[in-house]
Amino acid sequence: MNTNYNPYENVLKVMDEAVALGNLSTDMYEMIRNPQRELKVYLPVRMDNGSIKVFEGYRVQHSNIRGPFKGGIRFHQDTDLNEVKALATWMSLKCAVVNIPYGGAKGGITVDPSKLSKNELMRLTRRYTFAIESIIGPDKDIPAPDVNTNAQTMAWVLDTYSMLNGKPCPGVVTGKPLELGGSKGRPSATGRGVVTSTRLILENYGETLAGSRIAIQGFGNVGANTARIAGHRGAVLVALSDVSGAIYCKNGLDADEISRFVEEGNMLADYQASDVLHITNEELLECECDVLIPAALENQITKENAGKLKCRYIVEAANGPTTAEADEILKERGITLIPDIFANSGGVIVSYFEWVQNIQTLTWDKEQIHDMLIEILTKAFTEIKEEVKRTKCTWRMGAYIVALRRLITANEVKGLFP
Ligand code: GLU
Repeated sequence: MNTNYNPYENVLKVMDEAVALGNLSTDMYEMIRNPQRELKVYLPVRMDNGSIKVFEGYRVQHSNIRGPFKGGIRFHQDTDLNEVKALATWMSLKCAVVNIPYGGAKGGITVDPSKLSKNELMRLTRRYTFAIESIIGPDKDIPAPDVNTNAQTMAWVLDTYSMLNGKPCPGVVTGKPLELGGSKGRPSATGRGVVTSTRLILENYGETLAGSRIAIQGFGNVGANTARIAGHRGAVLVALSDVSGAIYCKNGLDADEISRFVEEGNMLADYQASDVLHITNEELLECECDVLIPAALENQITKENAGKLKCRYIVEAANGPTTAEADEILKERGITLIPDIFANSGGVIVSYFEWVQNIQTLTWDKEQIHDMLIEILTKAFTEIKEEVKRTKCTWRMGAYIVALRRLITANEVKGLFP
C-alpha cells in the first residue's frame, strides 16, 4: 500500500477535475475546497488499570450550506485529521448527490477499539461527546456510526449530549438503538443501498444481480449486510474478507452462515467449509469476478493493483477506496466504477429518515423505509446517468458534477457573508 497517500489531496484532485469537466463556476467552488471548521480535542480517559491515557479526537465540519452538518464518527488507529477532513468532504458530496437536506461532517478518534474494554470505550465516547458538545446538535451537526462504531456508541453520545442539555435529544445522532428512537432498517441501510446501486448499474448494461459473481472486501456492518442482501437476491458471493484474511469459493459462499460465524466472535481466517480456499486480501481484490465491492477503508485500489483487477464493475461501498491514479487506469481498462458518494449513500439516506421521524415524533415501518430508500437512489442514479451521457464521462465524474453543481448553486444563491 502507498503510505504517502493523502486522502484530502485525492478528494481535491477529483473535485477539481469534475469542476473543469462540468464547466462549473470556480468562484464559489473555492469555498468547497476547504472545510468550514476543524476541531481537534484531547481526551483523557481513566483506563481499567487505573492509569490515565490521552486520546486525540476530531470533528471536521465541511459544509452546512444545504442543511445541518451530517456524518459519522470513526474509531481507528490510523485515523487522523487529514483523513477526517476527506471523509467530511465526501459527506457533503454524498448528501448533495442524493439530494437530501444535509451538509457534510465527520468525526474520529485515533484508537484501536479492539484494545479497549467496553467500559473504557464508553468513557472515551462520553468524553469525546463532551468535548465536541458545543458544535453538535439536532439542527447543527448530527453524528452517526462509521468504521468501528455502532448503535451502542450512538447511545452513549445521545445520553451524554442529553444530560448536558437537560432533556432527551434523540435527533442529535442517527444510527441509535431502536429503543432510543432509532429507525427500522438503519443497521442494514448502507448494505441495502450498495446492493441497490449494484443492481441499478448491472441493469443499466442489460445484466442482472442474480447470477452475478461478487467479491467483497471487508465484513463489517457494510460488507456483511451487502453480502447477505446480495446473496438473498441470487448473487454468487465468490470471495469475502475481513482484517484476518479472505475466503474464496467459486461456487459461492453462504453469507448468512458466515455472518453467524463472525457474530460469534470468530474471524474469517478460521472459517472452514468444503471448497473454501483461504487467500489474502490482495488476492481478493485481484480475483476473477463480475463485481468487486471494496467495503473496508480508503486507498485499496491503487495504481499498483488497478492494472491487475479481473472484475468488470467496481461498486465502492467504503469511502474513498480508489485513488485518483487508479481511476485513470480503470477508465482505460473499461472497468465501470460506481463511486462511493452514491453507492454507499444508503446509510445517510436512512439516517435522514431516522432524523425526520425523531423531529416528527413518528415511527415508520420497514417496508416504507426500504421503498423510500430505493426511490431516492433510483432518482439520483437517473440524474447521474444523464450527466454521464451529457458530459461523456465516468460515473465518478458524473456523480461529482451533479453533487458539486448543487453545492455551488446553493452557495451562489446564498451569497458570501458578510
Ligand atoms: N458513516 C456513514 C457514511 O459514511 C453514515 C453517515 C450518516 O449516516 O450520517 O456515509
